Amino acid sequence: MPTAVISDIHGNLEALQVVLGDIEERGIDQIICLGDIIGYGPDPTQCLDLVMEKCLFAMMGNHDFAVLYEPTMFNTSAEQAAFWTRAQFEKEPDPAERRRRFEFLGNLVIRRWFEGSLFVHASPRRPINEYIFPDDVVAAPNKMAAIFDRIDTKAFCGHTHVTGVFTDEPDFYPPGDLGGAYTFRDDEKCIINPGSVGQPRDKDPRSSYAILHEDRVEFVRLEYDIPTVVKKITAIPELSDFLGQRLLEGR
Ligand code: ZN
Repeated sequence: MPTAVISDIHGNLEALQVVLGDIEERGIDQIICLGDIIGYGPDPTQCLDLVMEKCLFAMMGNHDFAVLYEPTMFNTSAEQAAFWTRAQFEKEPDPAERRRRFEFLGNLVIRRWFEGSLFVHASPRRPINEYIFPDDVVAAPNKMAAIFDRIDTKAFCGHTHVTGVFTDEPDFYPPGDLGGAYTFRDDEKCIINPGSVGQPRDKDPRSSYAILHEDRVEFVRLEYDIPTVVKKITAIPELSDFLGQRLLEGR
């Protein structure tokens, strides 16, 4: 059964709705979320509600952690966004609804194996906070080796918002170099980043997600109404205008 893997939604409702619509149109009813459901974006509660409703399970991202517990290693504007996001959950007037959302955040998974793949938000070594950058395959081969040591065959990670596949060579392939899909090989371990639904950073502003098939992983990019999200961000003083600007540029 194909499984959609979504990540780094960051409170971007317009993007999430387009992605969920595309998944539904394809008849896929199994969805896994790699975390960072909230933080940065203007619609955190709605995005969390949709993930709660639609996803089989969701991982704990550093921004979900920040809203639930505390921001760690955040810059000023990210920390301010985290506190604003928390306030949106705290001001929910219905106590049962408020509790339901905080309980869901508190039950987000750190590390999970599912149908032969490992799922984490950031990296198999440090599942909430470690970045695996495309440059690491050249600049930090020891780091890559230590990370691949923790994987049996394949893993899914988000966190960098950069779509693509790492192999244990080590190497990195953006979807364009792969013709949009990567076919699994018995003699190769891989780490797959589905990219970001709500804040892509690979200079392509379209929303990104992946579909896991038995023999391969397929990458999907979708346009969504970015100007509406930018307008919402600009109207909220606690969210830096840069958070809107970067959506237009995909950075
Ligand atoms: Zn993120």
